[in-house]
Amino acid sequence: MSTSCGFCGIVDRDDSDVLEVYRDENVVAFFPTEPAVLGHVLVVPRRHVPDIWGLELDEASHLSRAALLLAEAIREAMRPEGLNVIQSNGEAATQTVQHLHVHLVPRWTDDAMGPIWPAQTDYSEASKERAMRDVRGAVQQLAASVEPPLAPEDRRKHLDYIQAVITRQSAASSSAKGWLLPIVTATFGFALTQDSWPLAALGMVSVVLFAYLDANYLRSEKQYRRLYDTVARSSRRVPLFTLNPVDADEPLPENAPTATKWKAAVHRYVPERSIWVSWSIAPFYIALLLLGAGVLAVSAL
Ligand SMILES: [Zn+2]
Ligand SMILES: [Zn+2]
Repeated sequence: MSTSCGFCGIVDRDDSDVLEVYRDENVVAFFPTEPAVLGHVLVVPRRHVPDIWGLELDEASHLSRAALLLAEAIREAMRPEGLNVIQSNGEAATQTVQHLHVHLVPRWTDDAMGPIWPAQTDYSEASKERAMRDVRGAVQQLAASVEPPLAPEDRRKHLDYIQAVITRQSAASSSAKGWLLPIVTATFGFALTQDSWPLAALGMVSVVLFAYLDANYLRSEKQYRRLYDTVARSSRRVPLFTLNPVDADEPLPENAPTATKWKAAVHRYVPERSIWVSWSIAPFYIALLLLGAGVLAVSAL
């Protein structure tokens, strides 16, 4: 917002003389003090945007929707023979108020506007050709750098893929627990009956290994859930159909502190504390380790 801007004043309802014709949450439309033709309406975005180059995509779409609505209304109300949509940027283009605006000017053959285009010009074929090539090159480059919006069905498909991975991870976690139990029963059982403490120790080592494996499944499941949320809420643009959970997070900047980078690298292999203490890891594996310690003590005696 600019305090010296007359149109911002109109948006803020500071100007009681203004003849306002329309207002919604995005735009305001009003009559200029001196209409070029009776029924001439100005439409402005609520935000102070100096010109077309400062306009955001969603503002542009609100503005065009309002312009269409008002063009329709002017036709209904004024029954003009025609209508000009004029939007000027820069002094050379006759912009006088530095708050972007669209003029909707109803037209009649004998109105005071007159022709708005030059009668004729004489550019050489070569100059027209060059201008065409320049503009075409620029627009192709720009269009390529603007990502198309994500289609809803693609988002849905992507979410399905991620959900499938999450389901697989949690199934893998349960089956890891399922594999461990017979191993523990066998090693601890034999340790007790054979009085062999190394067998008990072996059982405990496998508990630790399975705990690590399981914690990694859980960590990975959590990462995929985060990727799922990111895609579901579009909170961050990720590559289409990516199944790399790293894409859920902003990549570390080049100049991140070494400690931060080091921590990130370690967490690629070692699940963090919150994973270890979660209900599906800590109670199960700690119980087995305590049991193993008991068996170890008994079999070593
Ligand atoms: Zn303004
Ligand atoms: Zn103007």
